[in-house]
Amino acid sequence: MHREFLMGNEAMAVGALAAGVNVVAGYPGTPSTEVLEAVAGRRGEGVYVEWSVNEKAALEVAAGAAYAGARALVTMKQVGLNVASDPLMSLSYIGVKGGMVVLVADDPGPISSQTEQDTRTFAAYAKLPILDPSSPTEAYAMMGEAFDLSEELGCPVIVRPTTRVDHGYEDVEVADPEEWRVNEPEGFVRDPSRWVIFPALSVRAHAAIERRDAELAKRFSSYARNTVAQTAGPDAVPRLGIATHGISATYVAENLSEKDDVRVLRVATPHPFPEPLAADFLDGLDEVLCVEELDPVIERALVATCGRRGLTVKICGKLTGDIQPSGENTVESVGRAIDAFLGREVADEPAPAGSSPRAVSQPRSGEDCLSTEKNPPAPPTLPIRPPVLCAGCPHRASFYAVKRAMRGRKTLFCGDIGCYTLGNAAPLDMVDTCLCMGAGINIAQGVTHVEPDTVAFAFVGDSTFFASGITGVVNAFYNQANMTLVVLDNSTTAMTGHQPHPGTGRTMMGQVVEKVSIERVLLAIGLTVVETVDPLDHERAVETVRRVADEPGVKAIIFRSPCVVLARPKATSVVDVEKCVGCQRCVRELGCPALVPDSATGRVRIDSAQCTGCTLCEQICPTHAISGGERL
Ligand code: SF4
Ligand code: SF4
Repeated sequence: MHREFLMGNEAMAVGALAAGVNVVAGYPGTPSTEVLEAVAGRRGEGVYVEWSVNEKAALEVAAGAAYAGARALVTMKQVGLNVASDPLMSLSYIGVKGGMVVLVADDPGPISSQTEQDTRTFAAYAKLPILDPSSPTEAYAMMGEAFDLSEELGCPVIVRPTTRVDHGYEDVEVADPEEWRVNEPEGFVRDPSRWVIFPALSVRAHAAIERRDAELAKRFSSYARNTVAQTAGPDAVPRLGIATHGISATYVAENLSEKDDVRVLRVATPHPFPEPLAADFLDGLDEVLCVEELDPVIERALVATCGRRGLTVKICGKLTGDIQPSGENTVESVGRAIDAFLGREVADEPAPAGSSPRAVSQPRSGEDCLSTEKNPPAPPTLPIRPPVLCAGCPHRASFYAVKRAMRGRKTLFCGDIGCYTLGNAAPLDMVDTCLCMGAGINIAQGVTHVEPDTVAFAFVGDSTFFASGITGVVNAFYNQANMTLVVLDNSTTAMTGHQPHPGTGRTMMGQVVEKVSIERVLLAIGLTVVETVDPLDHERAVETVRRVADEPGVKAIIFRSPCVVLARPKATSVVDVEKCVGCQRCVRELGCPALVPDSATGRVRIDSAQCTGCTLCEQICPTHAISGGERL
């Protein structure tokens, strides 16, 4: 064993490798992405890793490996579980032979997701055991425990970290590579009565699952990570209790001391809920505060426990308004809730940045900590910086070309999930809808059934096209839709950190493979108008959009230009101040963050640290005041 300072996601990757994982598949999504990347970076020979085209494919690949006796890990974020839910629900009934862990990272806040859904609730719906780590160290250990449990029970086991566990760092004691378990899969054994799902099998499986979960609720009551502790020692007789889980358990610990007389229940297995342990926890208490993030899972379970056992304990939490109903918990927000619960003086809400006086719970900056003044000056108000497309991003050029080409026409611009969702911001204002991965293509079709005179566009990134865009195009072509598909192809999965996908010609095993051609996929579906153009060739891009959009049926434009984050600029652009007349057309129409207007003169200068020399502003400046850029 040795110690390493690891991010939670790295700790879980090492935990999976130490547990002898054979096959790892996933789809990138914050906050889960680094798990698979860390496995790929540290794996020994014989461990297979892939970025699958989407979470459903990843889960099915992992299931196949587990059918053959391998230890298999599948990784995704919480909204990815929606995509993978079809096979997961059936897999819960069919089961697995080798250990299978489904790692789903939840995103309280949400910080980088469409929804704040809680995978603890999903686990109960899918009737699968779930482990909820509260630190990187625990997440490391839970990976091995989850594989063992999965093999023993013959079903997938979910491990569900949240963002602060995924991205938090800790000094973790981990196994040396020589100590990693070596798992040699037996191989797939044909047995249709086991592996082919039919209603008769499901009838038996459902009954067995209900028996198993009831048994697990008892067994999990003695699981070492489900704990009951008392702040004032084991001999104290507290009347108040706090029930918590995950990262919130550490926030609770930070806000309690031995001076408080409280009993604390920490639930690491929210499903099946360890009811016998919870009943012991409730014994003798008058009131319990449930400190949870996302859904009130523990709160509901404790209310049910009280009802079933005739206990008269008041259960408080999200459902009673004592814990914030949504959003991410913090040490401070949990502290205020505990202060109120224990009757302590409640700290002020943190003041907005720049306001004064400072709330007692607001973190102090390094400068303030060094200050010897009794009342140091309030920190300056920080400017609000909305998310924006990078300087030189080819998506800006694509949106701008469509915007110019369609000026004056009745249009609909359906967006999708990726960096290019930022095309919604001013001055582009080119995303009218965004729902979930791949949805824009179908939403465009739906709107045109109601408004046939609307010129409908669906923007989709290259990675999303492969993940869940293709079925939408097939639907559009089959059902005779009239729309323009715009594939924003920057040849990477940019938003999650530039993972490869089928169009990049690289795999996570390091192989160089034949690229899956987006053009050929579209032509094979049956589209006859498929045009590829560099969006930074502005006039040609505008002309292409005008021409293609007026074709009947489903047609496609592929705007292909590499992500600027992956390439060094060749030469940046500069503004000739003699020629600049201060019209600010470049700023008003493009919104490139490298264009800096001078408030006194109205003229513009270019921030060479940001400019990539994409030349888009050069092409639209009416006085040709900008020059020098060189496209990638
Ligand atoms: S050339 Fe113009 S539009 Fe392109 S990155 Fe530089 S300033 Fe921005
Ligand atoms: S578009 Fe040209 S003339 Fe107008 S502000 Fe920008 S650089 Fe100056």
